[in-house]
Amino acid sequence: MSAPNVQEKNSPSYPHQENAEEAALCERHPTLYIAEGDIVLSAPARRKLADGSDERRSQYFRVHRAVLYKHSAVLRKMLTVVGRRTSRRTASAVVYDGVPHAPLSDDGEDLAAFLHACYRPGELCEHLEKRGLSPAAEAILRIASKYECNALMEPILRIIRGWPTTVDAWEKWDAALDAESFHHSSLGRCSEDCRSCISKRLPTPSHALNLARLYCAEALPGIFYSIARTPTGQFVTWSRELDLGWVCDIRPEDQERLIEGRKKLKTECEKLVDVVLAPPRAPSLETGACRREECEKFKDWLADTIFAQNSYDVLGLLKRCASTFQYGRRVDDGEYLELCSLCQKEVWCRIRKEKSRVWDNLPNIFNLA
Ligand SMILES: [Zn+2]
Ligand SMILES: [Zn+2]
Repeated sequence: MSAPNVQEKNSPSYPHQENAEEAALCERHPTLYIAEGDIVLSAPARRKLADGSDERRSQYFRVHRAVLYKHSAVLRKMLTVVGRRTSRRTASAVVYDGVPHAPLSDDGEDLAAFLHACYRPGELCEHLEKRGLSPAAEAILRIASKYECNALMEPILRIIRGWPTTVDAWEKWDAALDAESFHHSSLGRCSEDCRSCISKRLPTPSHALNLARLYCAEALPGIFYSIARTPTGQFVTWSRELDLGWVCDIRPEDQERLIEGRKKLKTECEKLVDVVLAPPRAPSLETGACRREECEKFKDWLADTIFAQNSYDVLGLLKRCASTFQYGRRVDDGEYLELCSLCQKEVWCRIRKEKSRVWDNLPNIFNLA
């Protein structure tokens, strides 16, 4: 879907308007002023002039009521009365170009994107697949949510709802991002046809936070975590913005949340070693706790390597730990170390428990409660 065109020259003034200056700032939309339409909508639009000042215009759309009514019961209720005389004694309704005219307060460019989607809902899905949550998609979402057009909101919201909201969903998402970055590094870049790429569909971090706050608050902890775990000076994993710094254009309150959240995540990382590799508990009196030397040696090795990494990525650290101890490891002196099945089971349970605990604690870590 192309962004709404901005007409370069002023539209001709229309006969019913007496004020020439006012008329010059009324602009019929180049593609959404349909001659057979039975209602005219107008909305304020702004355009930046060469000298930096704003020019205010009124954007006019001539459309079919039936198309609007099909998408929105709110618009149906609002617009059916437009053009109707309330009584024989009141003045005739506002008419523009021969049909009833309803001035709206929505932004003209937002409204253009929305009306385009009403006429061609199929193009919206295509657009989302190719461009993801673009500014045009956000504009459609703004208007569609105001007029309760669920069918248009749904495909857009699905992208935001794709954000993990549980620890299991997080793991799948994280694995998908890993696979994607592997795919891209082997390819050298994101190709035109990698349509399913997460990084292509998602908005920038600051947009993601704004959208989630408006439409899907349960996605916020996961989004904050995705940003916070990124080392300073690197690109946020999912973002397609290549020149993005760590906090870029994120608003100050959220930057504060991220900075404070990172401190807490770091503390969580430091605490993990004592929780996950704590001495084994005796499962029953008969068997007793594991005192195997190899297990102790392997745990020491894990503590000195994986757990010694300085990181904000608690969940990533737990993931690396899980994959390492599961298969055993040849350590520096050439010895192959493995945990006994008892220790494996115990460490595995502790890792699962810690993952859930940290995930459930994210709203506190980022002060979102
Ligand atoms: Zn790609
Ligand atoms: Zn053991």
